Amino acid sequence: MAKARDYVKRKSAELGRPMTFFTQTFGCQMNARDSEKLLGILKEAGYEEGTDENSDFVLYNTCTVRENANLKVYGRLGYLSGVKRKNPDMMIALCGCMMQEPEVVAKIKKSYRHVDLIFGTHNIFKLAELLYERFMEKKMVVDVWEGTNEIVEELPIERKYPFKSGVNIMFGCNNFCSYCIVPYVRGRERSREPEDIIKEIEGLVADGVVEVMLLGQNVNSYGKNLEQPITFAELLRRVEKIEGLERIRFMTSHPKDLSDELIETMKNSKKICSHLHLPLQSGSSEILKRMNRKYSKEQYLALVEKLRAAMPDISLTTDIIVGFPGETEEDFEETMDVVRKVRYDSAFTFIYSKRTGTPAAAMPNQVPEDVVKNRFDRLLKEVQDIAAEVVKRHEGTVQKVLVEEIDTHEAGFVTGRLSNNTVVHFAGDASLIGKIVDVSLDEAKGFYYMGSLVK
Ligand code: SAM
Ligand code: SF4
Repeated sequence: MAKARDYVKRKSAELGRPMTFFTQTFGCQMNARDSEKLLGILKEAGYEEGTDENSDFVLYNTCTVRENANLKVYGRLGYLSGVKRKNPDMMIALCGCMMQEPEVVAKIKKSYRHVDLIFGTHNIFKLAELLYERFMEKKMVVDVWEGTNEIVEELPIERKYPFKSGVNIMFGCNNFCSYCIVPYVRGRERSREPEDIIKEIEGLVADGVVEVMLLGQNVNSYGKNLEQPITFAELLRRVEKIEGLERIRFMTSHPKDLSDELIETMKNSKKICSHLHLPLQSGSSEILKRMNRKYSKEQYLALVEKLRAAMPDISLTTDIIVGFPGETEEDFEETMDVVRKVRYDSAFTFIYSKRTGTPAAAMPNQVPEDVVKNRFDRLLKEVQDIAAEVVKRHEGTVQKVLVEEIDTHEAGFVTGRLSNNTVVHFAGDASLIGKIVDVSLDEAKGFYYMGSLVK
């Protein structure tokens, strides 16, 4: 770090202005949290944040969960080659899940030679070192680790929001759902020590954070492989005790591992938000089996019933994939059936994307594009129609809202979130940001509310 900082300082003096960086994050909350760490390192190295890709250092933190994510990055790289021609000193770096795929790195080395630095998901803590190496060597530096057992604590972090923060509780995934590339690019499951997590959250709270989102690919298996095993529910109970922390969220919960202990803990908690993201993926037991999800339609529905019996008001959201290989119209109708029965507050719907190297990519009967598109549209409409009815259930009530930002659509308005994660817009100013206030939910508008501040 010291050497990188020294170089950036000298270069800034030479240029007569601060060196700037620009980062763009693709993909999930894990990547968003990684980017906060990368930003922290860049700031510590002496860079200042720029506003766009005309900066001295441009970093894309990539996602590869679906093919589209890859295509976007190649598109951006094409655009950057023109930008770099105008500013030859500019450096372009790529990191994240896409870089863990050897064929991607090979393609970049061959066709995108204007890229300066490539690293993966396991060594983001090395950014300063890699930067320095690139400064010295003046040629493309590639450092992608296949895996790691290491968890590096106490990296500098530049948070996007002062009042809320993601907190990694574990890394990687052991589930190998047959369509998913995450276990291959994020490695095996590793949990952080509970003491480290608590210490980090205490530090965040001391710094003004009132809401944390505990992050893991499958938080329900947290702590199982620690030397002193601990359950996720126990971790939540410890986090709950942190004074000054107001709201606890977490994602993602794999239905196969969701315990009665967790339901009980959520029910008794004053801080855990009234929301659970419970990915369904498919409503067909046959497809679920081939997805290697390890639960059936009936087990999923029974779990939802148990959750609702304990917490009648809880908001449920989900992820659904349409067009998994071999999905028949009957299989798809099973998914629609679960959607109608559970009545989600919202759902992320995805068209199945073939990921090379995953078992599903080699499965027969890939579903034709037009059939998938038709099912996807029907599913989306069903999800949206139900969500509009479900979200409405709090209309006319007064609820606690954490104010997050100035409303980007309407002047004089702010945007916040209910405990159940629904968005509310209401008249207010920047002084409310980061505060939890009472808001009357005047009118439901599909998936959000228009409200008014209760003084
Ligand atoms: N670990 C989490 C889980 O199990 O739900 C989330 C992982 S993934 C980043 C987020 C979502 O992407 C998944 O829930 C799944 O619906 C979707 N997804 C993963 N692989 C996919 C693929 N090959 N095609 C389409 N969607 C996919
Ligand atoms: Fe992918 Fe399944 Fe792991 Fe989620 S649980 S990251 S969908 S393999």
